[in-house]
Amino acid sequence: MSISFTSGSELLSMCSKSNVKIFEIMLAREVYLSQKSKDSIISEMQENLSVMKRAIERGLTEDIRSVSGLTGGDAKKLRYYHEKGQTVAGQELNKAVAAAMAVLEVNGAMGQIVAAPTAGSSGILPGAIITTAERFGKTDEDVINALFTASAVGYLITNNATVAGAEGGCQAETGAAAAMAASAIVEMLGGTPAQALDAAAISIKNILGLVCDPIAGLVEAPCIKRNAIGTTNALISADLALAGITSIIPFDEVVEAMLKVGKSLPCELRETGTGGLAETPTGRQIRERIFGDI
Ligand code: SF4
Repeated sequence: MSISFTSGSELLSMCSKSNVKIFEIMLAREVYLSQKSKDSIISEMQENLSVMKRAIERGLTEDIRSVSGLTGGDAKKLRYYHEKGQTVAGQELNKAVAAAMAVLEVNGAMGQIVAAPTAGSSGILPGAIITTAERFGKTDEDVINALFTASAVGYLITNNATVAGAEGGCQAETGAAAAMAASAIVEMLGGTPAQALDAAAISIKNILGLVCDPIAGLVEAPCIKRNAIGTTNALISADLALAGITSIIPFDEVVEAMLKVGKSLPCELRETGTGGLAETPTGRQIRERIFGDI
């Protein structure tokens, strides 16, 4: 099996020629490039999954405050809220969102997370995929396979565009994470490779143009809540694709458009903490409180 691909269309044609899923191509590629055994690559991904699960557990059960003191405790609050049984958007969605926020709060407290693809967007993939896997009775092996699907999508976005807020805005970070999660969920639940890339494309399209404007330059606010919305984006995009709804603009073109939009954002809106929410009166006050008048 050929293991080199540089675009979504190439990846789909490899899947179709060999009648395999995206995760199988990605796993074969990792084995080939690393020269490690398949078992060893899978066991590394198992360790990533364990770190994700621990971060969710910690954020949902411990009293976490970020190092700056700006954030913490919201994941637990959402957990208690949805456990009472009455939510607007549904228990399962709120459970996934609470899990995603938990991971970001652990990140804000300098705890261990898996950057997937970045620390600022690290809640979306575990929040969406682990809670969905639980709901559908999927095994760790299923989730690990899905993480390879997510890796393939993350690899394509990284290589053909960017996953950095400093380069492409929040659309690149939380958009990439949502695309990874949506595609992974689609394959895990039996969707085709084409449906997986449709879900990824839809996720990015949903937040095209979203700016990166962290308050006080810290990866906390609005980042934690953007992971909440990114998780929702991933789950809805997966559902659209599984329902047979396609992306009118193909994945590769969406990724290219995202890069162009990112490049057209002014530097104030690309992780410098000098525009958007960071430059509101409250955003400035918070920065002064944490760092002094700079
Ligand atoms: S606002 Fe910026 S730092 Fe925060 S999650 Fe989005 S891209 Fe990352």
